[in-house]
Amino acid sequence: MTTIQKTLKGLWSLIVGLKVTGKEFCRPWITVHYPRQEVTNLDSYRGHIDLVPLPGDPRTPLCIVCRRCEEVCPSGCIRIEGHVPGEEKGGPVRQLLLISNVPLPHSAAREPICAADKTLRVLDGFSLNFNLCSLCGLCVQSCPVSSLRFSEDVYLAGASRKDFEFDLLKRLKHRGRFAKIKKAA
Ligand code: SF4
Ligand code: SF4
Repeated sequence: MTTIQKTLKGLWSLIVGLKVTGKEFCRPWITVHYPRQEVTNLDSYRGHIDLVPLPGDPRTPLCIVCRRCEEVCPSGCIRIEGHVPGEEKGGPVRQLLLISNVPLPHSAAREPICAADKTLRVLDGFSLNFNLCSLCGLCVQSCPVSSLRFSEDVYLAGASRKDFEFDLLKRLKHRGRFAKIKKAA
């Protein structure tokens, strides 16, 4: 190949490259300049799971401490603590509340232990290790009272794994306090 041919080939390759760059440069942006801008299309976004509060009481979770979500989670991300009023805090919650028409697709204990345990329970702690979560949604689907949802927390960042271990009950109470202050203002 002569020097002229080599030069022409090089130029052609440059033109092709510039054409691709120019085309991409003129396309509308599909990303946003965070933190100056934030995304708005969060309807279908699955952030980490979050507790849903009681209607009209943003600081109290809807959760009935049945522990179904803890049991179905294939990655073991959820740890729940609760107690029955009048009993010691931190003790084992005696039985699962099992509602027969809610299937347990990945449970080791498929058979109901107790068909209609209606014992009142108080939630003391709900921790989520988001490092292990695959966002499969089984916990959200399995909750018999729809006490779990996916958050819209898109801007998670942390320096260590510890930063992705959440206390969802604390988060709910914290959010609820702000909601109350906002309402009062
Ligand atoms: S979304 Fe799936 S992996 Fe994540 S906590 Fe729920 S059940 Fe576990
Ligand atoms: S499945 Fe729902 S009600 Fe049962 S412990 Fe989990 S969040 Fe609470």
